[in-house]
Amino acid sequence: MREFGYQRASDVAGAVALLGADPDARFLGGGTNLVDLMKSGAERPARLIDIRELPLDQIETTPEGGLRVGATVTNGDLAAHPEIRRRYPALAQAVLAGASGQLRNMATVGGNLLQRTRCGYFTDVTKPCNKRVPGSGCPAIEGEHHNHAILGASDRCVAVHPSDMAVALTAFDAVVAYETADGPGEVSLAEFYLPVGGTPHLETALPPGALITGVTLPPSPVAARSRYRKVRERASYAFAIGSIAAALDVRDGAVHDVRLAFGAVASRPWRARTAERVLTGAPAGPETFAAAADAELAAAKPLPHNGYKVTLLRNLVVAVLSELAEETAR
Ligand SMILES: Cc1cc2nc3c(=O)[nH]c(=O)nc-3n(C[C@H](O)[C@H](O)[C@H](O)COP(=O)(O)OP(=O)(O)OC[C@H]3O[C@@H](n4cnc5c(N)ncnc54)[C@H](O)[C@@H]3O)c2cc1C
Ligand code: SF4
Repeated sequence: MREFGYQRASDVAGAVALLGADPDARFLGGGTNLVDLMKSGAERPARLIDIRELPLDQIETTPEGGLRVGATVTNGDLAAHPEIRRRYPALAQAVLAGASGQLRNMATVGGNLLQRTRCGYFTDVTKPCNKRVPGSGCPAIEGEHHNHAILGASDRCVAVHPSDMAVALTAFDAVVAYETADGPGEVSLAEFYLPVGGTPHLETALPPGALITGVTLPPSPVAARSRYRKVRERASYAFAIGSIAAALDVRDGAVHDVRLAFGAVASRPWRARTAERVLTGAPAGPETFAAAADAELAAAKPLPHNGYKVTLLRNLVVAVLSELAEETAR
């Protein structure tokens, strides 16, 4: 690990100014991803701007009746918050499905959204990787890709985004707020992660030097009936090989409202809008759920060793929506 500078920021404007003064600086949240990448050499910042003492650690009700979550709220505090658990249960479940208790107590909401892919070629600096070194190639396409993307990938990169939290936030139409030297801005989660295309090293729509200040969850009655289901290769302490955040409202036997997002299938959380269209107004039963999954997954382009994800996601959609439909009918 090469030497680096360290500074602690005490206010938002100061943090943005410190980062702006040094193009090789990075914000430090909990450090649970960034410091690992510094050890492997995949990240080589000259300076860390520690943002953990910024006044961004609250979860507050918005005037519209949603919730605003500060960027330095820890994953542990987010999952334990009574209003998150009551009004957006899939979000609490998604966070609790990630990492370990110790890591969740360090990791922050802003850092979770910006964590990097777990593709092994990305973290191994002896290998080419278009995301780490643009133009160097993508060995995963011909190599180890059993946990890589089936949707929205390109011939430059087939990595998946590893966050569980971001999948639930995407299903609930969350909006990311940020601050730059030119003032504040915001971007919806749907627009936050860029399509991979020919530029896999460009991952988000955040302007250069932006500090994430928080995430706003709009009010969403259907979100109170939601669930996150994660499939992984061992029972705990592992990233998803496929996951789903779903919310469902059934009235008179038909789907009145639905939210659906997939994780670990694309370079970003995958909002399943095609499936949502098939579901809305249709009879709430396994045939409809399977037809919706098939409609969404028709766009899948699996690689030789990850075709299992298509079946996995189809089964997840049918199982989780069936469970939610049964609960709503009670
Ligand atoms: C063993 C292990 C298992 C894990 N398992 C899971 C899992 O199953 N599911 C899952 O979702 N995650 C998992 N994680 C990832 C973990 O959740 C992330 O490492 C964590 O959320 C990152 O948050 P952080 O605050 O530590 O970010 P940091 O490591 O501090 O930062 C990550 C990146 O975000 C930037 N950044 C941080 N905050 C801001 C901000 N406010 N504004 C702008 N930029 C910012 C940093 O500069 C850096 O580039 C795991 C991690 C480990 C080590
Ligand atoms: S999949 Fe993406 S991150 Fe992995 S080696 Fe290819 S370019 Fe790099």
